[in-house]
Amino acid sequence: MAISKYYLWTVGCQMNQADSEKLAAGFDRMGLRPTDRMERADIVVLNTCAVRQHAEDRAYSKLGRIRELKLQKPELKVAVMGCMVGLRTTELQRRFPQVDVFARPQQFEPIIELIDGPHEDLGGEFWPSTYAIPDGPTAFVPVVHGCNKFCTYCIVPYRRGREKSRPLDAIVREVAYLSANGVREVTLLGQTVEAYGHDLPDQPDISDLMRELSALERLYRIRFLTSYPKDMTHRILEGVASLPKVMECFSLPVQAGSDAVLSSMRRGYTRSEYLDKIAEVRALMPHAGITTDIIVGYPGETEADFEETCELLESLRFDKVHVAAYSPRPGTIAFRTMEDDVPAGVKAARLHRIEELEARISQEINNTYTGTQQEILVEGVRNEQPFGRTRTGKLVHLDAPARIGTRVDVTIEHAGPFSLRGHAEDTLTLA
Ligand code: SF4
Repeated sequence: MAISKYYLWTVGCQMNQADSEKLAAGFDRMGLRPTDRMERADIVVLNTCAVRQHAEDRAYSKLGRIRELKLQKPELKVAVMGCMVGLRTTELQRRFPQVDVFARPQQFEPIIELIDGPHEDLGGEFWPSTYAIPDGPTAFVPVVHGCNKFCTYCIVPYRRGREKSRPLDAIVREVAYLSANGVREVTLLGQTVEAYGHDLPDQPDISDLMRELSALERLYRIRFLTSYPKDMTHRILEGVASLPKVMECFSLPVQAGSDAVLSSMRRGYTRSEYLDKIAEVRALMPHAGITTDIIVGYPGETEADFEETCELLESLRFDKVHVAAYSPRPGTIAFRTMEDDVPAGVKAARLHRIEELEARISQEINNTYTGTQQEILVEGVRNEQPFGRTRTGKLVHLDAPARIGTRVDVTIEHAGPFSLRGHAEDTLTLA
């Protein structure tokens, strides 16, 4: 059967989104077209996430639907990729025999092989010469794959493998292509993005990459995530502070405020080292936007440990806190060696307390933006309102039409805990 339409479903982090965009570009080069209706597809690909149970449950629900669909349409090809797929897929294969291929993150070839006919050479591992098709002024660009850190609760190193940096010139070529095709802002991605370069021959760091990218005339802004405190060197921070195109916007997960929990998580830093890192960022960039991640209810987390996390959040005052309750992930160190001993009710209460604390602090920080002028890149339109982000990563909704991809100078008139609203003063069409 000729395969002409694909349905691609993605859940999880920005890295998964970037992988899906690359796979879509590969399909496009092979003449396939996307459909947003699974029933109309000839091939269905689920790009999954195993970081939280909720994400896995969503994939299982999709697989249940596919089971029914395949009864009606036996020729349908089905692939499951992403972080739910490990080295051994026996259990998944047993539960879901209707799946034709299980592919680990960025293992695109087995999926492509489901399609009959001659295959274009898409460039080997990670498809370095296949670029996502830009569909707006912003794009994700993975720069380092995998992770070497092995935090006890995390499945990523087992699924995405060890840190592997892309050659600097290959990234520059990709971003040059993107910026020549309408992309104005790129987000450089890595599970620990400052690990970039240590495994390359000349050992460039991410600030060297940012410097090269800054020379691309049509590129307006550069973001990067996710940061890992131990990898974030002073040299990198100085680079971020000195390069006008790099946004002062950090995603720097702390995960917990107590040394006991940080050590049990094997995060590789203490509370005071983390505090020092934030102080270093703010000394160089006093107005930087900084977000963080917290896990509550990690095995052994006591009330006193949790209070230390709350104190840390009160004192550091992050722009946003992404909080999740611990859930044991099969295959991780914590799953194998620790008892999930914090009751569900306690986890829920701790989660709620952090959400409340975060909403209050975010509101207070956002209030300081009221009346200020901010420079935003218009990224899209939602509910007929254009939106974009400040250099510090704040989401701003505009009060009047504005063209996507333009730079708008905005006066902030209203602040909520999660976004700002502003009046456009001046619009500049970017090169
Ligand atoms: S740094 Fe830790 S939490 Fe982040 S991807 Fe690596 S192992 Fe997972």
